[in-house]
Amino acid sequence: MFNKVLIANRGEIALRIMRACRELGIATVAVHSKADDQLQHVLLADESVCIGPAASSESYLNMPAIISAAEVTNADAIHPGYGFLSENADFAERVQESGFAFIGPRAETIRIMGDKVEAIKSMKAAGIPCVPGSDGPLGEEANEIKHIAQKIGYPVIVKAAGGGGGRGMRVVRSESEIVEAVAMTKREARQAFGNDMVYMEKFLEKPRHIEIQVLADKHGNAIHLGERDCSLQRRHQKVMEEAPAPDISAEQRAEIGAICVQACKRIGYEGAGTFEFLYENGQFFFIEMNTRVQVEHPVTEMVTNVDIVREQIRIASGLPLSYTQKDIVIRGHAIECRINAEDAKTFIPSPGRISEFHTPGGLGVRVDSHLYTGYTVPPHYDSMVGKLICWGDTRATAIARSKVALSELVIQGIKTNIALHQDLLEDPTVNEGGMDIHYLEHKLGLN
Ligand code: ADP
Repeated sequence: MFNKVLIANRGEIALRIMRACRELGIATVAVHSKADDQLQHVLLADESVCIGPAASSESYLNMPAIISAAEVTNADAIHPGYGFLSENADFAERVQESGFAFIGPRAETIRIMGDKVEAIKSMKAAGIPCVPGSDGPLGEEANEIKHIAQKIGYPVIVKAAGGGGGRGMRVVRSESEIVEAVAMTKREARQAFGNDMVYMEKFLEKPRHIEIQVLADKHGNAIHLGERDCSLQRRHQKVMEEAPAPDISAEQRAEIGAICVQACKRIGYEGAGTFEFLYENGQFFFIEMNTRVQVEHPVTEMVTNVDIVREQIRIASGLPLSYTQKDIVIRGHAIECRINAEDAKTFIPSPGRISEFHTPGGLGVRVDSHLYTGYTVPPHYDSMVGKLICWGDTRATAIARSKVALSELVIQGIKTNIALHQDLLEDPTVNEGGMDIHYLEHKLGLN
């Protein structure tokens, strides 16, 4: 096991990783920007190193600065968290070349999954069901493009191979628009991602977003931890997540889970990962794989009792998985509300000083947040300031408990989206469960 882990992230996930390290008896190094010297985990870590100015490009994305910090503090391993450099294959490679362990999959795996065309190709070969599509990048030839779209059937979605964060996608409903749409998506992709490769998929009209959490070690063992339903999204960003997914049977879970486990074994996957699917008419369609810990991992932890971050660290250090598939039992139901520093109606970010912070408690209530009274939320980063995760023996209990917990949660000094979550938990459709990915935007009158 490692002696010291450097945490190359900030906010709630940095704190989450620090706690897992501490439980394992591992010392921690926090790296932070100049704007982040008052972050909770920076104050609590065994050591901390300032790696640059507020701008992420010069701090949390600054590979040489992070690797130097690992060198001067004599760390053994680097945990990238989510976002920032967590899915950057070059970073994973440089970390390893510099003599540190990267807490995540092999660089080669990250590289394949970062190119959606390659990812789909490798997943198809590994037996994962994919959205019907172009089977590779689109060329320039107009008739060829029309022919592919016709074969798939309208509507189709043109997507950038290097896209991410819900950007670089365009829905096309008729042949008259397709050639221009491909050209436009290519141009945008070249600008935004430096890679103009695009591909085409069937556009699913009313899918749900259901994803499978997996863990795989360096010894060829792999397991799945069931699914999460992350259909409540705004601008392709998840707002509220739950596990298990309503109306997914134990048989369906076992079947899709086993397919993902097989795929992990075939590609030699190492670490924690998520297979993201769109789910429509009882069928799963792969869209992408995330090769890192996800924001919403706690809902899976609450229903399985598996510490996903601890497993990530153990796997990277070369230890075998602590569990076999038979050990994994889904118990009860968990819901996560992402708490953002933003206006609940306009979604305009609201950084600033927290004049009062009070967290809820009680059976099945978990708050993952780096906030404290007197802390100032800086304007430079993502607006998520915490997550409220509530477990219950049934979905109805998890909802009732979430409502009570939200009513006890006090965050003063900034605006938050707590009211949006309260509204969602009162919504009859949400209470019924099984909403499609467009439900929240319809509700908000955005489409
Ligand atoms: P990103 O990497 O940008 O998150 P994804 O491929 O994961 O891109 O897609 C993000 C979201 O876009 C999905 O959750 C879904 O809402 C929508 N989407 C992507 N592909 C399709 C599709 N074939 N049909 C319908 N919606 C899609």
